[in-house]
Amino acid sequence: MSQTQDIQFGDDRMAERYWAKVLANPETGCWEFRGGLGGSGYARIYVDGIVVPGHRYFYQVLVGGIPDGLQLDHLCRVPKCVNPRHLEPVTSAENTRRGNVTKLTRERVAEIKVKLSHGQQSQAEIANDFGVSQNAVANIAQGKTWADVEPIEIPGRRRPRVVLSMEVAEQIRATPEISGSEWARRLGVNQQTISKIRTGKTWKA
Ligand SMILES: [Zn+2]
Repeated sequence: MSQTQDIQFGDDRMAERYWAKVLANPETGCWEFRGGLGGSGYARIYVDGIVVPGHRYFYQVLVGGIPDGLQLDHLCRVPKCVNPRHLEPVTSAENTRRGNVTKLTRERVAEIKVKLSHGQQSQAEIANDFGVSQNAVANIAQGKTWADVEPIEIPGRRRPRVVLSMEVAEQIRATPEISGSEWARRLGVNQQTISKIRTGKTWKA
């Protein structure tokens, strides 16, 4: 982990608004995320209007790319920690071997199915968010496991609020093959919002 040694809290490669949500714990060295957390207690942050796992984002910005297919293991066992020095890229097999894979419950599978249906996150990202293997998410997506669980949103838990950005608006206009209702569903906004974007009434380039 030598390449993570020099990383300092407040590094200016990371936008100030993200640092504002992180509290450095002087005792543990953990950088505890104080914003919204995902299913397994992982940090959730918005980058260009899309929800991404916070620890992965911090690692990518401050250390560099995460090799394809690898998961970030929290060496500190604090899911909301985004300190790259506490994260190690490992294979899902290794992560499983270390015993970090969370047991799935019907409730959590229902949440995973909702996320899959939104189509905003890759299976790998969902797997990371829930602390399960990518294989487990792929099996759920293909109906090989938990086929009888309906994708029901858990009441009281807010849906991720998607912040529209010019980039998202351009994406909406550039994909006529995706219907307005589909975009509305993916982004959690109403269909009128999508048609306003498409007709150039809002988010005009
Ligand atoms: Zn930590």
